[in-house]
Amino acid sequence: MTLLTGRFGRAIRATGRFALDLVLPPTCSSCGEEVDQPHSLCPACFVRMHPIGEPRCDQCGVPLPASTHLGRDARCVSCELHPPPWSKARAAYVYDEGSRDLILSLKYADRTQNAIILARQMNRAGRDILERADWLIPVPVHWRRLLERKYNQAALLARAVSRLSSVPVFVDALQRPRATSRLASFSAEERAKEMQDAIRIRPRNAETIRGKRVVLVDDILTTGSTAAACTQALLSAGVETVCLLAAARTTPDTHDDISRPDLSED
Ligand SMILES: [Zn+2]
Ligand SMILES: [Zn+2]
Repeated sequence: MTLLTGRFGRAIRATGRFALDLVLPPTCSSCGEEVDQPHSLCPACFVRMHPIGEPRCDQCGVPLPASTHLGRDARCVSCELHPPPWSKARAAYVYDEGSRDLILSLKYADRTQNAIILARQMNRAGRDILERADWLIPVPVHWRRLLERKYNQAALLARAVSRLSSVPVFVDALQRPRATSRLASFSAEERAKEMQDAIRIRPRNAETIRGKRVVLVDDILTTGSTAAACTQALLSAGVETVCLLAAARTTPDTHDDISRPDLSED
């Protein structure tokens, strides 16, 4: 099997997979049932996904009940009281039973093609922020995690959104020089402290992003502490505005579940 490791092996396996795609019927990206189109969901999985539409908070993207009274800036009460550092946030789906398999298998199980499905809805949900964006910048992972997983799922999502929106990706604009602990069990204050200085702009990239409008891309938006650290790094480098675009976000109903291991921000 040693022959099938390294770049050569990857190429062979990729060719094999491509050949299989030609002869085998496409399957649902979530459950594996047969479907008509590649990179799609079967009807049963499709109805379990909950896209976030209006009304939602303009600043954090959380879905709101139809009867909600929105403040002057269409923000939720939490954003009115404690405004996050970014300008606007959009998330494609509610992070729940329906979207979880698709996102976690993108993150941990090499199902990189799931980025294509998620990006379609991210492109729809984020249309207004993408129209004004100069760069898509993925939330970075620490190199050790990159070695474990072989890819950064946020970068895959950013590339897939870029193909649909034509906004270019600046894949290594940010870097994570320090590995952070799993943030799930931390209080808000501890999380902010842990993230301090954990993310920075690569010095050689500062000039390229100064004065630009950036959309920061991530897979799951939970507490927002990672996104806040990225936003602060970008704003201190002179970026004009930072908006967020996530494949899914937790809602007030799911926030209590934040200690679940699959919801840890990393
Ligand atoms: Zn399915
Ligand atoms: Zn909000």
